Amino acid sequence: AALRSLLAARIRDVPDHPRKGVTFKDITPLLADPAAFGALTETLAELCHRHGATKVVGLEARGFILAAPVAVRAGLGFVPVRKAGKLPGATLGQAYDLEYGSAEIEIHAEDLESGDRVMVIDDVLATGGTAEASLSLIRRAGAEVAGVAVLMELSFLDGRRRLEPGLSGAPLEVL
Ligand code: 5GP
Repeated sequence: AALRSLLAARIRDVPDHPRKGVTFKDITPLLADPAAFGALTETLAELCHRHGATKVVGLEARGFILAAPVAVRAGLGFVPVRKAGKLPGATLGQAYDLEYGSAEIEIHAEDLESGDRVMVIDDVLATGGTAEASLSLIRRAGAEVAGVAVLMELSFLDGRRRLEPGLSGAPLEVL
């Protein structure tokens, strides 16, 4: 409850970003507050342990900022999921549909091993497309999904429903 009120106080609504009619949830005030960022990191690290994670995946770009300190705090490895074309090594790729058009994300297959249990971290669950695609990358890399953790879900976009089949019973944690 204390963390939730810290988050609520430090996540800012930016109207008409990145385009008219969209209200963007901006986490930069939260990142700039060391007490809030620290409490958040601690809570996410505990969730990783509770769900038996062995690796932490961060989704580009804000997911990196959150997942990297969580991985260090939890004593786990960090693995980036990036937009297509950025990772230099041998990658697995997964395309997914956006409201208009499509996108693709990639992972270095060798960064995960069979037997790994992966916690996926991002700031916001919107339509759920990015998180859903990351789950198939993790499974195709031979690892298991420990769960997905986000700071916020935009409930009106129903990302939870899109994500649920891919979770196969793994938890979706919304702080
Ligand atoms: P989705 O694939 O769930 O539609 O979109 C999720 C991705 O877009 C996440 O990586 C998230 O960071 C970003 N995103 C979508 N809407 C917002 C928003 O209002 N605020 C922030 N911070 N990120 C958003």
